[in-house]
Amino acid sequence: MSTIKILDRNFNVYLTEEQIHQAILLISQNMNIDLADKDPLFICILNGAFMFAADLFKEIDFPCQVTFIKLASYDGTNSSGKINQLVGLKENIAGRNIVLVEDIIDTGLTIKYLLDELSLKRPSSIKVATLLLKREALKIDIEPDYIGFKVSNTFLVGYGLDYDGYGRNLRHIYSEAE
Ligand code: 5GP
Ligand code: MG
Repeated sequence: MSTIKILDRNFNVYLTEEQIHQAILLISQNMNIDLADKDPLFICILNGAFMFAADLFKEIDFPCQVTFIKLASYDGTNSSGKINQLVGLKENIAGRNIVLVEDIIDTGLTIKYLLDELSLKRPSSIKVATLLLKREALKIDIEPDYIGFKVSNTFLVGYGLDYDGYGRNLRHIYSEAE
């Protein structure tokens, strides 16, 4: 079905399951060359990246480790009124080659926060893989190492991305209908 309704909003198919699959194959082919001898630790950023990460990891053909982190956000007094805190990282990442796996980079503030926090733990390198990049929305200077799609500045759901908690299970990615 090409148009769906989630709660009060309508969405049209924007990227199909097959297009997503092809993009993931391209990313994994590059990773299989770039990272094969780097013993990387992949860090999936929950919740949104769970589906991308699962499909990507299946295409990685060298030994690697995978872990999961989450950003807990609570009300505070920074510019957006929210303060983020990195939770769930048990591994010692000092000296490791890290690959952050994210669903979508929008303003870039989330990934910037994570890069700053993780850098304090002295990894040897941090690469960023994002399925989606909203280049027009970027507020900081970041060049992800692996990008699935550069997307327009509209609200997307599906394939891990949610609208108010719903839609993460959808196999395509949808954009809000005009
Ligand atoms: P940023 O900090 O780069 O502005 O935003 C990153 C986070 O915002 C993403 O990990 C995601 O959770 C959420 N986000 C940004 N754009 C979208 C979107 O179009 N749809 C959904 N569902 N979440 C988004
Ligand atoms: Mg995310």
